[in-house]
Parts: sequence; C-alpha cells; structure tokens
Amino acid sequence: MSDCLFCKIRDGLIPAKVVYKDDVCLAFKDINPQAPTHVLFIPHKHIPTVNDIAAEDEATVGHLFTAAAKLAKELGHDANGYRVVMNTNGDAGQTVFHIHLHLLAGRSLTWPPG
Ligand code: 5GP
Repeated sequence: MSDCLFCKIRDGLIPAKVVYKDDVCLAFKDINPQAPTHVLFIPHKHIPTVNDIAAEDEATVGHLFTAAAKLAKELGHDANGYRVVMNTNGDAGQTVFHIHLHLLAGRSLTWPPG
C-alpha cells in the first residue's frame, strides 16, 4: 500500500473535507489553513513533485488550475483575487510529496512569501 498521505486521502483511508472531485482531481480543505479559504487540489495520479511532471501529465496539471479557478469563482474570490501555488522540495517548504495546488483566498495576501 502507498505510504503517501494524499493517496490515502484520495482513497478515503484518511478523512478530509472534500470540496470538489472529478475524474482527474480531488480538492479538500487544508488541515492547517493559512487563509479563510485554503484548499488543496491533488491529481488522482501520484506525482511526487513538480520535477516529476511528465509531458503526458500536462493536461492533468493544467486541470488543477482550471478546477481551482472554478472553485475560486464559485466562492466569490475571482474579483478580489486569490493565490495558487505549488511548493517544490525543501527550500519551498514542500512537506507532502504528492503534488498539490494550494488555493488561498479570503484575505489580502503578502508578497513575497516568507
Ligand atoms: P506543502 O507544505 O507540501 O506545500 O503543503 C502540504 C499541506 O498539506 C500543508 O498546508 C498542510 O497543512 C496540509 N496537510 C498536511 N497533512 C494534512 C492532512 O492530513 N489533511 C489535510 N487536509 N491537509 C493536510
């Protein structure tokens, strides 16, 4: 069995507050939210980091963005704005090695990030 936390959430072995699901991706609330809206979009396919995205995964990864934009709009964040970000490896603070697109919204976000 996979040791990956997000594969376990995908498979329903670990509970999560799922807010969106389709054939390609799953989205659930971050357990430690950094903004009023903090949702993680994961592909069903296990891809550890951005470094591991293959040409055949491009549509899958692009789909994470369109799904995030759709949810952001449904939640009314499209006009004020939001951030989508994918951390890669240690210096960026990646802690779960199954790619995930963070959707952060609902407050004024600072830049640059820490
Ligand atoms: P990363 O640091 O890898 O970019 O983001 C991992 C995110 O996963 C973090 O924001 C963290 O709060 C979230 N996270 C870690 N464990 C769990 C969990 O068991 N459930 C949920 N819903 N989120 C988690």
